[in-house]
Amino acid sequence: MHVSRTLTSLTDDGDDGWGLFYEARRRVAAGEPIVELTIGEHDIKTHPSILAAMHASATGGHLGYASVPGTPQLRDAVARRVTERTGVETYRDNVVITPGGQSALFASHLACLSSGDVGLFLDPYYATYPGSIRGSGAVARAVPCHAQNGFQPRLSDLEAAAKGAKSLLINTPNNPTGVVYSKETVAMLGQFAIDHDLWLISDEVYDTQVWDGAHVSPRALPGLQDRTLVIGSMSKSHAMTGSRVGWVVGPKDVIAHLINLSTHTTYGVPGYIQDAALFALDQGFGLEHEVSAPFARRRKLAQDLLAKQNTLGLVSSGGAMYLMLDVRATGLDGEAFAQGLLDNHRIAVMPGRSFGQAAAGHVRVAMTVDDERFEGALKTMIDYAQNLGRD
Ligand code: PMP
Repeated sequence: MHVSRTLTSLTDDGDDGWGLFYEARRRVAAGEPIVELTIGEHDIKTHPSILAAMHASATGGHLGYASVPGTPQLRDAVARRVTERTGVETYRDNVVITPGGQSALFASHLACLSSGDVGLFLDPYYATYPGSIRGSGAVARAVPCHAQNGFQPRLSDLEAAAKGAKSLLINTPNNPTGVVYSKETVAMLGQFAIDHDLWLISDEVYDTQVWDGAHVSPRALPGLQDRTLVIGSMSKSHAMTGSRVGWVVGPKDVIAHLINLSTHTTYGVPGYIQDAALFALDQGFGLEHEVSAPFARRRKLAQDLLAKQNTLGLVSSGGAMYLMLDVRATGLDGEAFAQGLLDNHRIAVMPGRSFGQAAAGHVRVAMTVDDERFEGALKTMIDYAQNLGRD
């Protein structure tokens, strides 16, 4: 039977570099001791106090259909958080709670794009971006952010891609590069959106993971509030990846449409999950810091180790739970480097091209195992690279 073009276009079937991730997973399942530095999943679990809140809510009876837009308490908590962090007065009606940041990304593009429109995204990118744009029937167009510019976006590349565009998706702190955009860069992106009358979809799911610089949300810059949709999530900030709770923050009229979309798709997020998220947000900065601190520590560890050699190039970054390494001096491309590392040393990293052509010649390293294993894996990786470089 025929499956719709929209669904079959969610992924293109080219070589996307994720084969290595699945191979590592298969080998782990078969009992091999692989060090997985692949996907963005913490080595710690959701904090027991959050689980206790979830349990108390469920046993207390919050098990029926929950309020589709999100519970008023959680929407208020998200609005308060955004107001505090950005200085932009944000209210309950500016917030819709979604099952994770991913569905928020999908819903936001559905809100901004119609069939045949063009949605822009920056390459390197988080793997689901093109599909999240194509899900609305739109064309996903990549704007390269070049390695030689430190993976920073450039106005000339944006201008070259602007024709027919209706939206621009940005992500700071960035997955996969870890790059944190400065205020000037966010302002440049915002001005580009204004000049071309674009929606700006700002994926801020790593906003609690900033090691250098500060997180700047475009919604806080002049003239951008009415054209910006912000994607947030509890996944990374509170190690709640499996709970599936996130949000979109934006203008009230668009949020009303997104609530209508939720009614017709997810019918909301389970009440006991929302109550757990509310509890977690109410804990404030302390708990977020506890979750993010290991990544800051491991990044420092990696910086110190990598500073002693010059075969692997560490991309200058300011946040997120990843490192981008330039492996070109080894003579291998990202895929061959990653495959060799897996085969010879049982360490799994992601080939850069899994995140777009602009990241060719690189690998992404997720800092998602305990410090000792992480340090050991990095040392092995450096030795492996140096031996290749000498060949
Ligand atoms: N955006 C980015 C940049 C991500 O890296 C991820 C998850 N890896 C998501 C969105 C979606 O996360 P979630 O659906 O768990 O909130």
